[in-house]
Amino acid sequence: EETYADVAPVRYDDNGVSAYVSVMRGCDNMCAFCVVPFTRGRERSRPVTTIISECARLVEEGYREVTVLGQNVNSYRYTDGGRTVDFAELLYRISQVSPELRIRYSTSHPKDCSEDLLHVHAERPNVCNYIHLPVQHGNTEILDKMRRTYSREKYLRLIERAREIVPDVALSTDIMAGFCGETEAQHRDTLSLMRKVRYDHAYMFAYSERPDTYAARKYDDDVPEETKKRRLSEIIDLQRGINKEKNEAEVGRTVTTLVEGPSKKSDAQLAGRADNNKMVVFDREDYERGDYVRVRVTDCTSATLLGEPLEKVAGSQVAG
Ligand code: SF4
Repeated sequence: EETYADVAPVRYDDNGVSAYVSVMRGCDNMCAFCVVPFTRGRERSRPVTTIISECARLVEEGYREVTVLGQNVNSYRYTDGGRTVDFAELLYRISQVSPELRIRYSTSHPKDCSEDLLHVHAERPNVCNYIHLPVQHGNTEILDKMRRTYSREKYLRLIERAREIVPDVALSTDIMAGFCGETEAQHRDTLSLMRKVRYDHAYMFAYSERPDTYAARKYDDDVPEETKKRRLSEIIDLQRGINKEKNEAEVGRTVTTLVEGPSKKSDAQLAGRADNNKMVVFDREDYERGDYVRVRVTDCTSATLLGEPLEKVAGSQVAG
């Protein structure tokens, strides 16, 4: 069994601004398509105090963003002295380490996205206004076959609740085309769910069988490759259009961007991510890597917001 002795719990991005802290490993869910429960074992969470001191050290070293990691991070649970800290409380405590430290997390299961967690997003300005909620599919029968433990309706209620509690929250997802037995009508349910939710970002892929999984043992991988490819490209085209419309809606707004470094195209420009995880590019002027900069969005592509910098802000004002 893999233990923490085998892995470095803290990793650093080359940009010198972002770092990653693993808080748990493994997964107790049994999604039919997934190998993680077999390769990473049962869920194990790391002590709260260790995680908090690692985050405090990152701030001292100049890091400005931490992504809290786990295979199923929302099911974090650590009991010490008879008291249990869940993921919502862990996130809250990390957010108190420093207002200069912006916090993201990955990856999560919708069943563990609690109201408490949504309230932490709403209340803590340095917890990003962005949630990854992997739906995988838009049809309840397929979700049952995938053993995801929620229906289409339950998932849509969660999205509605997230938007009520965290106004303007950006949402991303994972979506799979061509799972075993998927019919054309079931595929269309995925497209209609995407139109309803209008994700800000999606990781989209065609199903491919992984050895030893429940799906490999119990189901036929019977959707022809050509059909999988066509359904996936319909999903990608739809999401591309939504991305473009959503980015266009950002034009005229002001977003707080954490500068990660020069943009890919020019040293005279800086690039970073807004609170809602969108990439933002603007003229360098006197701003530097690690600064939080208010940027007025003036234009966009389907992948990037372009804007003019207004001012540098303190970490305590990172929201927006
Ligand atoms: S897809 Fe995610 S929640 Fe499901 S078994 Fe794999 S790691 Fe766990």
